[in-house]
Order: sequence, then structure tokens, then C-alpha cells
Amino acid sequence: MNKMPAFIDSHCHFLGMGYSSTLIQLQEVSSIPELLDLLRLHSDQSMIIGRGWNQENLIEKRIPTLSELDKVSLDVPILLIRTCGHVVIVNSKMLSKIQLEGKRLDPSSVPEEGLFVEEDIHLVYNCIPKPTKSDLLRYLKIADQICLENGVTKVASDDFCIFDIPYETVIEAILEAQDSGQIHTSITEQVNLPSKELLEDFIKKGYPNKRYSKFKIGPLKLLADGSLGGRTAALHKPYSDDLNNLGVLNFNDEELVELIQMADDAGMDSAIHVIGDKATDQVLKALKAVISSSKRETHRHSLIHAQMVNMNQIETMKKYHIGAIVQPIFLNSDLSMIKDRLQDRIQETYLFHSMYQSGITVGFSTDCPVENLNPFENLFVSMSRTSLKTPKLKPHLLNESFRLEEALSCYISSNLEYIYEQEQIDYIMVDSLPNELEIAKIPSIQVLQTVIDGKVVYQKLNL
Ligand SMILES: [Zn+2]
Repeated sequence: MNKMPAFIDSHCHFLGMGYSSTLIQLQEVSSIPELLDLLRLHSDQSMIIGRGWNQENLIEKRIPTLSELDKVSLDVPILLIRTCGHVVIVNSKMLSKIQLEGKRLDPSSVPEEGLFVEEDIHLVYNCIPKPTKSDLLRYLKIADQICLENGVTKVASDDFCIFDIPYETVIEAILEAQDSGQIHTSITEQVNLPSKELLEDFIKKGYPNKRYSKFKIGPLKLLADGSLGGRTAALHKPYSDDLNNLGVLNFNDEELVELIQMADDAGMDSAIHVIGDKATDQVLKALKAVISSSKRETHRHSLIHAQMVNMNQIETMKKYHIGAIVQPIFLNSDLSMIKDRLQDRIQETYLFHSMYQSGITVGFSTDCPVENLNPFENLFVSMSRTSLKTPKLKPHLLNESFRLEEALSCYISSNLEYIYEQEQIDYIMVDSLPNELEIAKIPSIQVLQTVIDGKVVYQKLNL
């Protein structure tokens, strides 16, 4: 057995990870008829919820439709969440439930074709039965197990918007799960409170920067736009495969500055989801304004994802000490679609090594459950710039590859900045060390043991 430091994941959805593994898994589905057959197996449920579809993996290369889902059931509500979590398709039964329960809403905000994107997804989630405390504890326990099996002992995680429940219910559940020893992973919360009212309430109650034993309140988390796969990332010029579409900005400029400023005044950093080039410009402008007027001497603001950040924007990030929390593993799913979406613009995408070389603090993460939590798969993609899902495709900008030591430093020491810790003493035992293997074998490394505070918290069976 070989010993190495345990991994830190600087952006995932811990609660969502546990929850989504209890849903119907659609990641491997390769056609719409296969998807419908899989859903039919669950038609005895009171609501059919699937997660992880991606139209790029379907031979039809399109999103399933409401009328196709109606062929599975007209009586049971069905909702299917795209792999990115930014697009949801529902059947007629679910649509009428949303229209009924959302009476207060403007009817034009409920799309007749059953396709919901970005903020509107809340209309769908509001109709899912709310989880009980014991459901939450069960999801947290499953997530903990996933972390420990993968050799991840600390995460920065966005959990407040997974369900339509008060953020304090989530905090209570995490604390109860940790205090009762049901979960072992350290969690730094990326505080997803996208409205002034909620953030005000949070600040008034004294939550900013609160520290419990293995749970701490981290930065404000906002989502400035959507995803490239779902064509909701905000672009300056239309999607090359959808010429009327520029994606979606979730805030206007003033709203964004106001939220970041409120958090900054309360001593909180901001970690902002940004994918499209237009969203990047908007967020950098907002962060620059807040940093210039802030009374805080140091900050750890960061961009999460940063997939379309060009060299000029990298300069700006460097100048203002704005960090990058990136997911090399996104190429696993994105490699098959980015050329269609962006054509020549792909030359300035996923420039993670350029960010690293310029001196920006680059932290690696997976955004699990968007991609697998497996750090060895992520290391592999960061080094090879190829996709494990579509290995025949050419690597994306090979000159952006990381060397192993660089990639490991992004996964461990750089990520300490994003979980507000000084050191990582947790460790794992593995069957082979990555530096002893050729790159192609790295994804198959097995975690045999995970050790936190000197205690073995995970042991692989059948050693
Ligand atoms: Zn995320």
C-alpha cells in the first residue's frame, strides 16, 4: 500500500451528490427509446425523477420532449434533470402540477413545452415533495460515503439550493450529521443565497464566517449564468449551433454588485459560477468594483468554472487576485460538444494551465454530481486534455496540460485557500501512486483506505 495526501474538492454539491444517487441514473443512456424504457421500469412510483441525461450522449442529439415523456405516463408526474442541473424537461402531468401549485405565478412563465432552464427550474423543484430531516441525513450519509471512497476528505460545497427548504434546515442537518458521527467529511459551505432578502437575513443572524468543528461558512456563491451544454451560458455572440441564442445572464450588473458588496461588507468572499464570455466580463467588472471599494485588506474571491476566460481576462484576475475553481474533468462531457457550440471560440476555452502559470490560485474540483468525484479521473483529464467518455476525440489544446505535480498542487495545497485551512493532514492509501504510472493508467488507481485525524474512516472491502 502507498500513502498520499487525501484530496480536497473545492466545488461540489455534497447534499445534491447524496440525493442524486437516489434518483434514476440517466448518464449511460444512449437513445430516447432506451431512456423511456428505463423510466417505465419506475412507473409504480408516485413521481418519476431522473438525473444525468445529456443530449450529446443520445443518438438523436436532442432533448427528449414532453410528448415523449407522456408516452411513459399521463398519470405520474415525470421530471428529468440534465447532467448540468441547468435544464429540466417534464411531462404533462408534472406541467399541470406546476401550473396548479404555482397559481400566484405569471402563467407565461410556465413553458408549455415543458422545458425549464435556469431560475425557472425552481418552479419545478417547488412541486417535489420536501425532504424530511431523516431524508436529508440519509442523503448526507450517502455523500460522505462517496467522498471517502474517492479519497476526498474536505469539500467546499453548495447545498442551500438543492431543495426548496430554508437554508437553516440544511445547516442544522449537516451539523447533526457531523455531531452524531454519521459523516466525516469537512464541509466549507459555498453560501448560495441569490437574493438580497435572503442574504440580509443570513448576515443579520450572524452566520458569515461562522466556524463549527468540521463545518464552516465560506464564501457567497452566486450563479451568473448557465452551462454550455444546456446553451444557457451567457455569450457575447450567439451559439454557433443556435444562432438566435445568447444564453442567460441571471443578474443585471447592479444586482450582482449589490450582492457581492453586501457579502464583502460582512467579511465574506464571493465564489461565482461563470461560464460564458459575457458572464465573465460582467462578473469581473462587478468584482473589480467591489475590490476597489472594499475595506477588507485581503480577499479570496474566485470564479467557479471559468471555461471561457481569455488571456486579457486572466490578466485581470491576476491583477485583482481573483482565484479560479476549475473542473478539468468537464472536458469529459464537453469535448464532444464545444466545437459545435463555439466553433473558433474554443481556442480560448478551458485555459486552466495558463491561469496556473500566470500565478492565479487554481483549485481543482468536480462539481459532483455534475461529473464523478473521482480525483484520479480529474487528474488524468487535466494532464491529457482528453475525455474518458469519448477517448477517440482529439485532446483539447494540449499546451494547456498540467504536469502531475502541478495538478496535485491544485487539488491539495491550492484548494486549502478555498476551504480556509492551513494544511491537509488527512491521507489515503492507494494501490499505486500516480507518479509510478503512465498517464493512461491514473484513472484506475484504487483508494484502499481513507484516514481522517489518524482514524481509518473508509476501508475498501476484499483487500
Ligand atoms: Zn456547481
